[in-house]
Amino acid sequence: MSQRIQAPRGTNDVLPKVAAKWAQLEATAAKILARAGYGRIETPMFEATHLFSRTVGEATDVVQKEMYTFQDNGGDSLTLRPEGTAPVVRSYLEHGMHKEPQPVKLWYLSHFFRYERPQAGRYRQFAQVGIEAIGSEDPAVDAECILLLGELLDALGARDTKLVLATLGQPASRAAYREELQAYLRAHEGELSREVVDRIDLNPLRAFDAKHESTQRVMAGAPRLIDRLPQDDLDHFEEVKALLDAADMPYEIDTTLVRGLDYYTRTLFEYQSGALEAAQNTLGGGGRYDNLAEQIGGPHIPGMGWAAGVERMIMASTLPPPADLPVDLYIAYEPGHKAPAFRLASDARRAGHGTRLELAGRSLKGQLKQASRSGARYVAIFGDEGVQLRDREGGEDKLVAPDTVMHHIRGQL
Ligand code: AMP
Repeated sequence: MSQRIQAPRGTNDVLPKVAAKWAQLEATAAKILARAGYGRIETPMFEATHLFSRTVGEATDVVQKEMYTFQDNGGDSLTLRPEGTAPVVRSYLEHGMHKEPQPVKLWYLSHFFRYERPQAGRYRQFAQVGIEAIGSEDPAVDAECILLLGELLDALGARDTKLVLATLGQPASRAAYREELQAYLRAHEGELSREVVDRIDLNPLRAFDAKHESTQRVMAGAPRLIDRLPQDDLDHFEEVKALLDAADMPYEIDTTLVRGLDYYTRTLFEYQSGALEAAQNTLGGGGRYDNLAEQIGGPHIPGMGWAAGVERMIMASTLPPPADLPVDLYIAYEPGHKAPAFRLASDARRAGHGTRLELAGRSLKGQLKQASRSGARYVAIFGDEGVQLRDREGGEDKLVAPDTVMHHIRGQL
């Protein structure tokens, strides 16, 4: 016997009970985002590879290790999208959305692909709800975006959430700061973990995330980016904070917050949940990306957005599972009466009734057991004398002609 094939590592089958929660989450997001003027967008599942390498950043884990990149039969290098922002900005440029009133507000619920080490809340195929507000650098855009994710998480009943906020400034300040930090790390090499030392050149900021104790001690005295930012960036951040205060949205400032994507400028934020394991406790996050459009060959167009993991939001959510659609009619039949029973099932469904029909050759007794298990209000039993129609909410059984069953049910349901 050949080996049984299983789903690829890091992927999930979303079975009906969980799929119902997905639908609930999608409807909730659609409502909240439509109220704020967001239109839905779907971009292709794969894009030109350098759309991601140029924006997400050559040095990031995502680009270095996690992309599903392949050459198609025409020889083009394509990548299954690891994130949604670069594709949406690409689409904005491609469709001339700068001609619309700015900012253009777009949202998506899509699947993304990253070759990561799978664990609870971290998969190789996962879904995100995300928004992008493109074409304005007003701090009100930042604050509005941040509040919308908070509202979505509240509506889902996400437990124990906390908003963490930071600012990154512009690439020039970041580059200067990065050199200063690298020099600081080199001066303390002996006290740092191997991993941190290995990444001094490529990604020194990651040192702030280290769990290694003596590394953490060194980092407590490390220079902070926020102390090196020019006034206009600090002013922008102050305004974002003032607007969040005006909306009574509490937040924590974490000057060392880093996210795995390089395109961010200025505002950076995350919502974390105490209900999830520490390593995967970020429900969602995002920030401003004022240089991204230029990085993919467009003009300077500022933008702001976030993405939140569908699987993680469902894990953290306390919404009761949505109720199944009720069964109005169960159709049972004696041998020889399958065709008229089948026809009634299709008529009843077209008329909008939740309907079940025997599909596994059970005896009449077995069918009636299924009928009561289904919770159907009406049971129609096709036999030689006609159709026996039972209202399980009371009254005598009625013997009716097959083509009048719908007539008898109508008006009752
Ligand atoms: P990011 O696109 O990395 O900013 O991630 C935003 C959110 O997407 C995270 O906070 C997670 O909720 C979710 N997410 C990112 N990567 C994964 C993954 N590999 N598996 C499941 N969820 C993920």
